[in-house]
Amino acid sequence: MDVRFQLSMSFNLDKCIGCHTCSVSCKNVWTSRQGAEYMWWNNVETKPGTGYPVTWEDQERYRGGWELSGGNLRLKLLKGPGKIRTLANIFFQPNLPTIDDYYEPFTFDYQNLFNAPLGDDQPVARPKSLITGEFMEKVSLGPNWDDDMGGSPLYATNDPNLRNLSASQKELLTKFHKLFYFYVPRICNHCLNPGCVASCPSGALYKRGEDGIVLLDQNICRAWRFCVSACPYKKPYYNWANGKSEKCIFCYPRTETGQANACAHACTGRIRTVGVLMYDADRIEDTAKLPEDRIVEGMRDLILDPFDPKVIEAARKGGAEDNWIMAAQRSPAYFLFKKWRISLPNHPEFRTLPMNFYVPPLSPILHQAKADRGGTFDPEADDFFNEIDKMRVPVKYIANLLAAGNEALVMESLKKQMAVRMYWRQKRVGDVGEGAVRNALSSTGLSEEDVHGIYRINSLATYNERFVIPETHRENKTTVDPRNMFEKRGSVGFGPKRKEFPSREW
Ligand code: SF4
Ligand code: SF4
Repeated sequence: MDVRFQLSMSFNLDKCIGCHTCSVSCKNVWTSRQGAEYMWWNNVETKPGTGYPVTWEDQERYRGGWELSGGNLRLKLLKGPGKIRTLANIFFQPNLPTIDDYYEPFTFDYQNLFNAPLGDDQPVARPKSLITGEFMEKVSLGPNWDDDMGGSPLYATNDPNLRNLSASQKELLTKFHKLFYFYVPRICNHCLNPGCVASCPSGALYKRGEDGIVLLDQNICRAWRFCVSACPYKKPYYNWANGKSEKCIFCYPRTETGQANACAHACTGRIRTVGVLMYDADRIEDTAKLPEDRIVEGMRDLILDPFDPKVIEAARKGGAEDNWIMAAQRSPAYFLFKKWRISLPNHPEFRTLPMNFYVPPLSPILHQAKADRGGTFDPEADDFFNEIDKMRVPVKYIANLLAAGNEALVMESLKKQMAVRMYWRQKRVGDVGEGAVRNALSSTGLSEEDVHGIYRINSLATYNERFVIPETHRENKTTVDPRNMFEKRGSVGFGPKRKEFPSREW
């Protein structure tokens, strides 16, 4: 057992209001620079919708992530055997997104609002390209264009997650998109089996063993942009001004001092929590090779029980400090993903083992059930608990987004959330029968303690409960040395074990 630690962010999709405060905080802190105008290390996209860059989830087009070939994992991006595969792609990658897939970054000619001469017309601020400096005829794409076009089937029907839905389910699209849509905030997933790290011909990317953060050493980056192509989430970006790639750094200067990430700290809806997971790095490859519909369960197995004395002993042997073990025992990520089993990873079928998790949205079920009955919500008559499969946003859609198509995992999460709601409704409003609540708890396997825990983390949690981030004693850390990563390119996981590294000399 090779115990390592992973900082992990969880998002409660029911609570995201799509305000983009997170994106703007991130931009102000990290990407308000020349060459980075189009970058959104944190972006928020509307679902159903095509996302940023457009249709990024379509790996037939972008060829990001891993595929199984003869029982082995290989990057989808590269064709042919071994080094030839890299060489064949090095000077031309047809799968890179272009600026038109992101959007042409723009500002507005605000000065015209102040300086326009007196006239009959209202002065306007015309859009101006941040690339050419020229005025633009029109703005035709933006970082959350689906939102700006909210309700338009023109865009939403191109959502790759609609694949495999029946004609009648797809037909629902316009209906539910008009009445209900939800937001998916996205940052780099700091994956356990990152495609970006494995693809870099220069070995510039590396994953830190002590906290799992994936970083890119710009002194080593040679602008091959393989990371951009190989990441199925399209989270590394190329900076055209300095000729280097860059990506979300999980705000490590903040997390190392125990502070929450800028996006999470700023989040208006308080939808985000951050915590530590302990995992067994020896099992990364086996987990990434599992059949698609079993990857999420494999990821849950990979996450270790931080209360297990054997895990604690192995972690201590690997040099873990007590504040990290204690943080793992209070981690929102551990409870949401492993213990309560209500959060899910984004597109696990890409096989990078993403380490951020999403609590799927529940709201539309109630609204749809009410609307379908053309009337008022009757908690006694409406069997909401068993009608989750009739929700407005088809379970299959959410399963395509968060569970590699495994609808049972989504149903489990939604039913647990529903059971929590019924419990509190019975207590606070009193219009749900005690028997119905008992049935809901026993059929979902939740204890009263679990219900209180889920309610607290999703509704009431204070700053210190939402963000359980231990301070890092950098002087004790022996992270993966980026200079060694050249030898690790193309490999699964992130290179040699922690104990194989010499202690850091200071
Ligand atoms: S592959 Fe994973 S770790 Fe690498 S940039 Fe993409 S999301 Fe981040
Ligand atoms: S700040 Fe929070 S609520 Fe607002 S868009 Fe971002 S994740 Fe959603």
